[in-house]
Amino acid sequence: MLPLARLDHRHVWHPFTQMRDWLRHEPIVIVSGKGAVLRDARGREYLDANSSIWTNLHGHRHPKIDAALQRQLKKIAHSSALGLANEPASVLAAKLARIAGSPLSKVFYSDDGSTAIEVALKLAYEFTRRTRGPKNRPRFLSLEGGYHGDTVGAVSLGHIDLFHRTWRGLLFKTDKVMAPYCYRCPFNRAKPGRADARTTRQCHWECVGKVDQVLRKQKKRGEPYAAFVFEPLMQGAAGMIPQPDGWLRQTTDLARDHGALLIADEVMTGFGRTGGERSFACAREDVQPDFLCVAKGLTGGYLPMAATLTTQKMFDAFLGEYEEFKTFFHGHSYTGNQLGAAAALASLDVLQSRASVLVRARIQKALHDSLETLWSLPNVGDIRQVGLVAGIELVKNWRTRQPFALSERAGIRVCEAMAKLGVLTRPIGNVIVLMPPYCTTNAQMTRMVEALREAIEETFGRSAG
Ligand code: PMP
Repeated sequence: MLPLARLDHRHVWHPFTQMRDWLRHEPIVIVSGKGAVLRDARGREYLDANSSIWTNLHGHRHPKIDAALQRQLKKIAHSSALGLANEPASVLAAKLARIAGSPLSKVFYSDDGSTAIEVALKLAYEFTRRTRGPKNRPRFLSLEGGYHGDTVGAVSLGHIDLFHRTWRGLLFKTDKVMAPYCYRCPFNRAKPGRADARTTRQCHWECVGKVDQVLRKQKKRGEPYAAFVFEPLMQGAAGMIPQPDGWLRQTTDLARDHGALLIADEVMTGFGRTGGERSFACAREDVQPDFLCVAKGLTGGYLPMAATLTTQKMFDAFLGEYEEFKTFFHGHSYTGNQLGAAAALASLDVLQSRASVLVRARIQKALHDSLETLWSLPNVGDIRQVGLVAGIELVKNWRTRQPFALSERAGIRVCEAMAKLGVLTRPIGNVIVLMPPYCTTNAQMTRMVEALREAIEETFGRSAG
């Protein structure tokens, strides 16, 4: 085993990882990267097929982001935002506000997706108490399968049993409501991409009806929800599950009509990931949230930095004389970090260039075209693509849609086989994620999908189902 791998084994505890499994194999130790390629300590190269867990936008060692960081390093790496302003953080806030559009004019910085959500949650909580009265106990509504991070507030909003049930005793109560999952819809057999043996019934938006029902019920209790929290267009950690066109607009309209603030978690979907020219998924359905939470791709995948964008109205609710103590008592040591902000500014410049818009459209199509070839595999149940994000759901048999038990580690086995073929990604249960960086060439895209095909065939055989 390489000395670096040994050090890792001895000391590093990895996230979301059964460490007994981890310790059985020599880990891949990444030492460098360029574009969509990662290189390990043994000199092997891999394609970064999930953009380093959904963070990287334009590829590794992008010359413009590298240069921006080097320029910033010549000035300063970090000074505190507690009591001080700084140049890149101020310029970035203005830029984010411009991209997000009115009325999201205020930017609260933090460190990662989880903290961006905590900020929105706490602001919505306190805003609700201030506007509805201190006796009000603000309650939150979020989606089945929702995932908003791993801090205690974010976990309280999440509804993925596997990740969240352990912490139940530690959490505050939130309500959940059905989210669309067309492939496994209990009301219809929504049509998958290939000719299906089952009949396809018409969708009557039963899932929107469920949201309506829950909102009404809560309103009748006399305390409408403080906020509705959602991942727009596609739920990531639930298994890359897209919402049908119109769902987001309808449910957010309903939530607003029932007095709830809207908290959009664009930690995964932000910065062009869901396709088109617009940066944010909410814009695709003209949804104007009260909070827009971003992280991951904010710095192009270079540094941990997050932002919670909100409105002047929210901001004003926290204004007062010092001794009124209306201050938002929240903050982190690295809030508004200069290096992160400099990387983010450079990344946004690239993102907004005409060249990037065209390249993203090309990659979206290349991803779609290569994925089409997977429908012929009997263990591929569903292929879900929104923009530049895809989830491929593995099943025992495409006709019955029978899932693999988690204990069968179907997704993990396929990803291990892909790694041997030089393509890195991580599964979500039985769903394989493909989320290529925006610099991926058509040839690299074909290799990613070909590796997935080979890995599926190697893992389950060619004629299952
Ligand atoms: N929200 C969403 C939608 C996410 O996908 C994630 C992370 N996968 C988070 C929040 C949490 O982000 P972080 O891991 O940066 O805390």
